[in-house]
Amino acid sequence: MSVAGEASFRESVDLMFKRATALMDLSPGLEEKIRVCNSTYTVRFGVRLRGKIETFTGYRSVHSEHMEPVKGGIRYSLGVNQEEVEALAALMTYKCALVDTPFGGSKGGLCIDPRQWDEHELEQITRRFAYELIKRDLIHPAQNVPAPDMGTGEREMAWIADQYARMNTTDINAKACVTGKPPHAGGIQGRVEATGRGVQYALREFFRYREDREAARLTGDLDGKRVIVQGLGNVGYHAAKFLSEEDGVRVIAVIERDGAIVDEKGINIEELRQHMNRTGGLAGFPKERHLPEGAAVLEMECDILIPAALEGVINLGNAALIKAPLIIEAANGPVTFGADEILRKKGTLIIPDMYANAGGVTVSYFEWVKNLSHIRFGRMQRRAEEARSRLLVEELERLSSDQGLGWTMSQDFKQKFLQGSDELALVRSGLDDTMRTAYQAMREVWHGRTDVNDLRVAAYIVAIDRVAKTYRSKGL
Ligand code: GLU
Repeated sequence: MSVAGEASFRESVDLMFKRATALMDLSPGLEEKIRVCNSTYTVRFGVRLRGKIETFTGYRSVHSEHMEPVKGGIRYSLGVNQEEVEALAALMTYKCALVDTPFGGSKGGLCIDPRQWDEHELEQITRRFAYELIKRDLIHPAQNVPAPDMGTGEREMAWIADQYARMNTTDINAKACVTGKPPHAGGIQGRVEATGRGVQYALREFFRYREDREAARLTGDLDGKRVIVQGLGNVGYHAAKFLSEEDGVRVIAVIERDGAIVDEKGINIEELRQHMNRTGGLAGFPKERHLPEGAAVLEMECDILIPAALEGVINLGNAALIKAPLIIEAANGPVTFGADEILRKKGTLIIPDMYANAGGVTVSYFEWVKNLSHIRFGRMQRRAEEARSRLLVEELERLSSDQGLGWTMSQDFKQKFLQGSDELALVRSGLDDTMRTAYQAMREVWHGRTDVNDLRVAAYIVAIDRVAKTYRSKGL
């Protein structure tokens, strides 16, 4: 992946940070305090598997403790290393500040190819890794709360939560030690879809502003826009599914490990995902064109490019060739610092990762609050809300018949109006509100300051300013 002269992921994040702080009025000491990673814990542990001891290396990095708990996912991948985990932890600090969730930034990783191990083995490995982190308070409801990331999901989070509960039998808030758990194990509705849903809400908000669309040389709304998605994992799949099923976008290409599927008429994302679940790849997907070489498809003409896989995929090697006028970074760090400069000069508009993929941690925040309050969202209000709506409908129907007005409400309207909000509806509402509010904060800086010309710098400025305020109020 690395191209000669290219900054590493961690350097990229630092350089982007410095581009923002150059426009801010921070004391050099505070600037450094915010930028540096507070600590990274490395652990090597052994697990007896298939008759021999296997040694694994894992990390938990804490970037900033200006607020606690610190928050961020745990990644399972052979590519995990200290630099990557630290870069991702820094992004978590800024992301949490930007979307106003009360957390510092952290990230974890385990060097492992999860596909090489069966479920029972993965459980043993996960529980052992969790044990190492829990005994050092690097997993703790009040101090450090992990979540899923690449290579992990609900299943791993349930094992971690159970491991914590076993080691802390009297902690009434044990479930809040990790988010992204399955709903039956203390999770929340809408967490799995959250990051992809957030990408959809981010794009909807972006398209609400004519000025912003024009800055990306786009017109109209999302309907009919041609989209390329890289990575059909949890984030890419949900973003592509919602945008194509609900907003009328046409997904003309999907790029994955084993190449790309291209179809100008639009790809059915649900069918493709089911094919991938069955076969493990894109190849053999009927009807559409399969290209064995995926990377070149990033450079195809389209309206919106959604990199939803790894960091560094748009770099010095291909940035000049990218034709999309709008990129929304569903992955963390998909555009390197060098590529970002090339793209900005070309006039490509980038909706930055720390905003675009913040849906995950936003709904994690709701899950954490749910666990601490020990009650499902909507449990108290839902039926009361329905009763009030019913009162209004019945009164309108009475008035209509008493006065002989002949008004009738459509069944569809009545059904929707009479339905109280359940947990999923509330989660989506909270997420939508968060994505809109954060976008508006970024856009105010972007349009309001003559020295700010892109959304990434605007996002960093908003985030760093909030972190700096917290440090100052602590007397630093
Ligand atoms: N791993 C996700 C991210 O990069 C989610 C983190 C969380 O929910 O804590 O934002």
